[in-house]
Amino acid sequence: MEATSIAHELIARFFRYAAVSSQSDASRSSVPTSDGQRVLARMLAGELRELGGVDVVIDDFACLTARFPGNLPGPTLGFCAHLDTVDVGLSPVIHPQLVRFAGQPITLGNGHVLDPQQYPVLGDYLGEEIICTDGTSVLGSDDKAALASIMTALSNLGHADHPDIVVAFVPDEEIGLRGVKSLDLSRFDVDGAYTIDCEGQATIAYETFNAGQAVVEIVGVPAHPMSAKGVLINPNLIAHDFISLFDRSQTPECTEGREGYIWVQSIDGNQARTIVTLNIRDHNKQKFAERKAHIRAAVTEIQQRYPRAQIVCDITDIYGNIADSLGPDNQWVVDDLRAAVASTGREARPLIMRGGTDGSYLSTQGIPTPNIFTGGFNFHSVHEFLPVSEFERSYRTIWALMTREF
Ligand SMILES: [Zn+2]
Repeated sequence: MEATSIAHELIARFFRYAAVSSQSDASRSSVPTSDGQRVLARMLAGELRELGGVDVVIDDFACLTARFPGNLPGPTLGFCAHLDTVDVGLSPVIHPQLVRFAGQPITLGNGHVLDPQQYPVLGDYLGEEIICTDGTSVLGSDDKAALASIMTALSNLGHADHPDIVVAFVPDEEIGLRGVKSLDLSRFDVDGAYTIDCEGQATIAYETFNAGQAVVEIVGVPAHPMSAKGVLINPNLIAHDFISLFDRSQTPECTEGREGYIWVQSIDGNQARTIVTLNIRDHNKQKFAERKAHIRAAVTEIQQRYPRAQIVCDITDIYGNIADSLGPDNQWVVDDLRAAVASTGREARPLIMRGGTDGSYLSTQGIPTPNIFTGGFNFHSVHEFLPVSEFERSYRTIWALMTREF
């Protein structure tokens, strides 16, 4: 199968964007957390202006927005992608390779191979071009394939009828959706939106977790062992008692599908003070609320057991389930998406996402935002790969949505 001119443009854009190192950095508190994300935002802003975008704005957080006024009535559509690549301890510099998959394991480099025995889905792309890593980094199809697809669609939009379109490219998605949460949503004034930030074949996602975090601070009473009896209150042992109050079968490693969990992320303690951090996840809003209530009840119980300790619990919501924002008035965002995917020749595959996306936040802010496949596989891994035909299918889905031809 030979690459089409669209495929050539997608590949060229992907390589250009991948060449800008833009890994986010969870250890930094400023947004963006790395300079490369601002460099990439500036590059994209210049291209958006050349493509006819208006109101092209990059703010202090490196959130980039632009509008493409349309000539069709109908909903104003938003398209959102993130500028950062994830830090999983691999190189922040990305050197993609374009290879043709001949059925044999693909040698990536750095001792890594992409083996069809390990990833049977590769068999669907026999004889086709695949973009993969050089074994030192992730590929960053999460989410630069999305940037390339959106930009390619915008570059062809001059010849097509379309409604008003607004794009938002935001930093620091991989570290708690910090970028999109910094975005002034008056610049993303749309009726419905799409993120392109999902792996798999023709995958769409509009069910995500409700997500929260509990930080429990336990302050004990330190004492020298010679005079500790009846005096010392050990916050580490209190933390142990506290986490033992949670069901050990409701953890990430014991659950799947729509099953929620509480994940003990860290226990960070010394003689005087211990901090326990819990991640709370559930697709069901009611059960999510119950999990938070359970944590508060556990804190109360432990406080009663250790009245001389000081225990403070702080619970924050991080994002919500997209499905909870959908109803009769805005179900069209999902219906249109299914139709758009079908127009590319394949049925959409809804994924119950055990995670969240920028759309999980946007949806809680009143913008229903399902998630669309990028065409990539094995996100956050040196084994990440992007079959060009799947990349093009993602593009064609976006194109169908933008031009309302599905
Ligand atoms: Zn992503």
